[in-house]
Amino acid sequence: MFGTINSFQSLGAVDGPGIRVTVFMQGCHLRCVYCHNPDTWDITGAKVSVIDLFNKIMRYKPYFFEHGGVTVSGGEPLLQPEFIEELFKLLKAENVHTAIDTSGICDLEKAERVLKYCDLVMCDIKFVTEEDYKTYARGSLKRVEEFLELTSKKNVPLWVRHVVVPNLTDSEASVKRVVEISKKYKNLQKIELLPFRNICQSKYDNLGIDFPLKNTKECDNETIESLYKFVPEEFR
Ligand code: SF4
Repeated sequence: MFGTINSFQSLGAVDGPGIRVTVFMQGCHLRCVYCHNPDTWDITGAKVSVIDLFNKIMRYKPYFFEHGGVTVSGGEPLLQPEFIEELFKLLKAENVHTAIDTSGICDLEKAERVLKYCDLVMCDIKFVTEEDYKTYARGSLKRVEEFLELTSKKNVPLWVRHVVVPNLTDSEASVKRVVEISKKYKNLQKIELLPFRNICQSKYDNLGIDFPLKNTKECDNETIESLYKFVPEEFR
């Protein structure tokens, strides 16, 4: 089986617990205004066989130690659910920790098959109203909530992520609502507030696409710290 990937990052420490390999999959149907990876939107890209990718990942296994492992991100990894299911199945047979970083907007039946082999779901709650989801991401909060419900039903540990964008998602009310929604799910372990950065401008320039937030300032650490006050300690 083949999948389309954008890039492979060995030994990072930001996409889940411990030291991890992160695989960025190609393809995404959303268009988040703050997207850092517009180069992943197109589903076409480098094809790789699941066995080759698995073998490449396994070279790094000695560095995963107790908590590390593999994260598939994107793009939207659940646009290639059969490939991820197959990859995770192979990794679980080798006792490697598997995580998925997703928007949560996906085919639920196929996602359920991936969740069977998944140790951690990292899912964004990007906006807190249906209208904002539609306007700023071409997405749907309702569909994200349906996915979160599925992760809860399957009892897969969940981290919710929220990108904090000045004047868009940085209000106290916004963060409080993210917490309120997230707490509905019994599998919730963590809520991460991620500061908006605009380091991706060159990617947009190379693609000849306008970056909608080119004039938005980056989110500073003080803002993140002050917003974390609204996240219960047990989920920080
Ligand atoms: S879901 Fe992720 S990859 Fe897709 S547009 Fe949004 S930020 Fe970009």
